[in-house]
Amino acid sequence: MQQPADKLNFLGVTRSQMASLLESLGEKPYRAGQILKWIHHRGLDDFEEMTDISKGLRAKLAGIGEIREPEIITERVSEDGTRKWLVRSLSGSAVETVFIPEAGRGTLCVSSQVGCALDCSFCSTGKQGYNSDLTAGEIIGQLRIAMRSLASAYPDRERTVTNVVMMGMGEPLLNFDNVTAAVDLMMDDLGYGISKRKVTISTAGVVPAIYRLAEITDASLAISLHAPNDSLRNELVPINRKYPIEELLTACRHYVAEKFGEKRTVTVEYTVIDKVNDQPEHAVELAELLADFPCKINLIPFNPFPGTPYRRPSMIAVRMFQDRLVRAGHSVTVRTTRGQDIQAACGQLVGEVADKTRRSARYRRLAAEIVG
Ligand code: SAH
Repeated sequence: MQQPADKLNFLGVTRSQMASLLESLGEKPYRAGQILKWIHHRGLDDFEEMTDISKGLRAKLAGIGEIREPEIITERVSEDGTRKWLVRSLSGSAVETVFIPEAGRGTLCVSSQVGCALDCSFCSTGKQGYNSDLTAGEIIGQLRIAMRSLASAYPDRERTVTNVVMMGMGEPLLNFDNVTAAVDLMMDDLGYGISKRKVTISTAGVVPAIYRLAEITDASLAISLHAPNDSLRNELVPINRKYPIEELLTACRHYVAEKFGEKRTVTVEYTVIDKVNDQPEHAVELAELLADFPCKINLIPFNPFPGTPYRRPSMIAVRMFQDRLVRAGHSVTVRTTRGQDIQAACGQLVGEVADKTRRSARYRRLAAEIVG
């Protein structure tokens, strides 16, 4: 059932937003903590069950909003334990959320938009175009759904979400306010209490938004580089035409240097595509480009999808590429493909965009605006 979009969804309201809201209702702002705990620790959807809140306040809250998780359309479990949920957004279209279990940790890959306007040439989400932004409630809702589902599948909690990466569908920094509110709740002790190092926002390189982000959060940052020079990156990641590599790296330096006394790094994602960006000269150029850049490099072997002209490189090619970077002094990991049997790999998340006509007209306008 589709719900009206104008009712406030308390699921996406941060602690400070809740405190101001309570103040405006003539209530004590510290009650924000109690309400957040009911919503995120106990998983309540009904204000009536919030027994330490006065009846009057419960009625007021129910009068202005609701606690609404996105509807789960399907949940699939891979042979390797990876799980994928297809959830319905307010727009009616669906997005995907993926849980990847590994030894000693569990990473949830969360979507931020329905579709994506950036049209990176090797990304299947980009091929669908942009449809809409997810609300903060729909973003944090993906984590809440995953936590609950894992708690019921593993009552002894041998599997749970320890890390969140904003690497599902969409460009997180083009849905700035909703993504930062959701990230705030992920890291808040009264929300999900995940440490700032374990919540990662990944961007294709929306440079001005990286500076804004530095003002308001200390979550970890990842950038989708994918090429060692502007001419190749212009082809693969079109937003590079507007914000070229040097500007992107400068913004990242600012992000990690700005306010952390401690040493922090940026994750550089590099999707390795057969014969496109995986040659020895690319490795040499990349090693040099990142020589003094505080980063860890994560190589993602390209995941093919129907209609793509690109091919996945051999594992030997990926290891040789890695080796060249390591010998130049870089810290480099290779992301293994998980959940292949349920199409859960990076770049294979396609959701289900309902209205293709409206989408493509809006998408072309938006993409033209962003990429310039
Ligand atoms: N918009 C964000 C999140 C994208 S998804 C960003 O650009 O960072 C997370 C990562 O997967 C990005 O680095 C993205 O470029 C990469 N990716 C997209 N399609 C892929 C594919 N088919 N194979 C491998 N990696 C892919």
